[in-house]
Amino acid sequence: MALTGNDTITTNTCSAEDTQAVAARLASLLRPGDVITLAGDLGAGKTTFTRGLVAALGVPAQAVTSPTFTLLHEYRGGRLPVYHADAYRLTQAGDAEEIGLLEAINDGQGVAVIEWAERIISALPAARLEITLDDIGDDSREITLTGRGERWAGLAREWDTTC
Ligand code: ADP
Ligand code: MG
Repeated sequence: MALTGNDTITTNTCSAEDTQAVAARLASLLRPGDVITLAGDLGAGKTTFTRGLVAALGVPAQAVTSPTFTLLHEYRGGRLPVYHADAYRLTQAGDAEEIGLLEAINDGQGVAVIEWAERIISALPAARLEITLDDIGDDSREITLTGRGERWAGLAREWDTTC
């Protein structure tokens, strides 16, 4: 685990399961109201990561699918509800309101996870955890987690004391 800064974590994974283990580690740090953005090309592993996160929060087994067409999925029954959005088809920040994402974030009860968040970034809170997945060949991915704002100031320290 290489630490590249106070609030940035970079780690490599070698399989989808490995990426889900990273997501599970993050899950243990999450609190109501957290906003997570996922960036990375098609097939980088954004939905796979979300799957690991949802499972680790204890949501009863159910299919976590890409919300590309329904735009916002809700997963309930775990430690925290998860609002899973895919902004791939959105074209303007106002669409975040349209699909009910802002309401879910403002509600503050759960964790919002947004794939392709760069498309609606100006609508999202500045305090957020930005995650980037890069395909670095075959089944390898480089995952970077960057904490923005006071909420995430202790990310690197917390990460090191969790498993
Ligand atoms: P995205 O949501 O970013 O488009 P998906 O999670 O839907 O990507 O798909 C990622 C694909 O890559 C899956 O088929 C997954 O099994 C595969 N894969 C291979 N290696 C990894 C890895 N290290 N991390 C995540 N996914 C991986
Ligand atoms: Mg996806």
